[in-house]
Amino acid sequence: MKQINHWIDGRLSAGSTGRVGPVFNPASGAQTGEVAMASADDVDTAVQAARRAYETWGDSSLTSRQNIMFAFRELLAARRMDFAKFLTAEHGKTIDDAMGEVQRGLEVVEFACNIAHLLKGDFSAQVSTGVDTYTIRQPLGVVVGITPFNFPAMVPMWMYPIAIACGNTFILKPSEKDPSSSLLAAELLAEAGLPDGVFNVVQGDKEAVDALITHPDIAAISFVGSTPVARYIYETGTHHGKRVQALGGAKNHMVVLPDADIDLAADAAVSAGYGSAGERCMAISAVVTVGDAGDRLIEGVRTRIEKLKIGPGDETGVEMGPLVTRQHLEKVRSYVDAGESEGALLIADGRDFVVDGYQDGFFLGPTLFDNVTPDMSIYTDEIFGPVLSTVRMEHYEEAIELINKNPYGNGTAVFTNDGGAARKFQQEIQVGMVGINVPIPVPLSFYSFGGWKDSIFGSHAIYGPEGIHFYTRQKVVISRWADPLHRGVDLGFPTHG
Ligand code: NAD
Repeated sequence: MKQINHWIDGRLSAGSTGRVGPVFNPASGAQTGEVAMASADDVDTAVQAARRAYETWGDSSLTSRQNIMFAFRELLAARRMDFAKFLTAEHGKTIDDAMGEVQRGLEVVEFACNIAHLLKGDFSAQVSTGVDTYTIRQPLGVVVGITPFNFPAMVPMWMYPIAIACGNTFILKPSEKDPSSSLLAAELLAEAGLPDGVFNVVQGDKEAVDALITHPDIAAISFVGSTPVARYIYETGTHHGKRVQALGGAKNHMVVLPDADIDLAADAAVSAGYGSAGERCMAISAVVTVGDAGDRLIEGVRTRIEKLKIGPGDETGVEMGPLVTRQHLEKVRSYVDAGESEGALLIADGRDFVVDGYQDGFFLGPTLFDNVTPDMSIYTDEIFGPVLSTVRMEHYEEAIELINKNPYGNGTAVFTNDGGAARKFQQEIQVGMVGINVPIPVPLSFYSFGGWKDSIFGSHAIYGPEGIHFYTRQKVVISRWADPLHRGVDLGFPTHG
């Protein structure tokens, strides 16, 4: 049984508790590892290591930080397949999908390689006679990342490359379901020259999280996960005086208008609905068809999912892998039961799907519902599985209203060939990331990622320019040099002149 430990102060550590959690291979259903579960004492050990490291790292030169990011980028690019294998082994996604995940994380590292440029401040000369004003951005201190199971490599990379490049030290608390890739990242950062204690990994569950988000020496928390936990992290972290960005769950809609290219839309619905077995925060979960687009789209999706190859993620040609755990499989299955009993029309039923040779794997076949109504639990809840619901609407306005009423606002898409209709969507939709004939509108690393409404708590989106702002504080300096005018004491409020 593989032992998966913490990484504290530049080395592996088993921690103090002896408490462990199981890690599974979702394709076989077998337990393959045990991950250490940190106590509050283990968390404090990591925080103290990060605090000590901050004393020098926070004051290190921009060029030295930049050089380490470049070196890390090269190591990451060379070892991307090793990351992908960990992701497939513990999460279940296909190797191709895992390679895509690593690529999107690597792009954030490339963004962080620009840190010298990104941390430039503003400068205004002669704002008053002999007076200049400028801004500098300074790191916060020890910052924390708490991440979900569905992108075990990429989501942490949304955080730590930028946090570290800005001069902070970092503690990652990865998902306990697929923790191994975080240790590979730690090893590569050390190999790239990152000093001990700048990047730490604390494995664990709620006990570790609670110790982190209330610890007096933590300055800021980045969280990505489900909405109830995001809300809890935001409320608890801010109550303890920390800066918090907490990204939550989603229910992403894709609107298909009657004039859309239906083949394009059906390809997109299948890719975005069933890719990574629906375990993406940007997965399409509800397709909203307008007018006569419904029948054509349903038929297009049905015929495509019949041909999907489902199996273990490391098998050549497999397009969709298993769900992450048996518990999650049961939960998704129960939603299919509920949809059927609530009266939706089950077009494709994946509940009895079995992969030959992998009877104990956590597989669910692609599932498709028609005639879903907004009061059904398959519509209201985030299912996070390969279950696509179709909601039929007569008018475009109703589709927009439906999305705007939904409490989540992560991503959405419209499929149409009408520029005016697309622009109306862009302007009126109450969602943070919008695709126009693009089903998964994930911005590249030089933009920022973040939803609206219950999909985010806090005022900063993640990575990109907002990441730089989140991980630094601005200081404004008003400076007077060589002012020949000695004006004497003046207790009045300073004015220009
Ligand atoms: P989760 O909320 O269960 O867990 C996320 C992290 O929080 C994990 O590290 C976990 O150990 C910890 N955690 C879980 N329960 C906790 C509790 N009660 N108290 C303190 N910490 C706790 O999420 P998940 O199941 O790992 O991931 C899937 C969810 O993440 C989905 O809702 C998905 O939409 C969301 N997600 C959102 C985004 C985004 O950018 N908005 C990206 C990826 C995933």
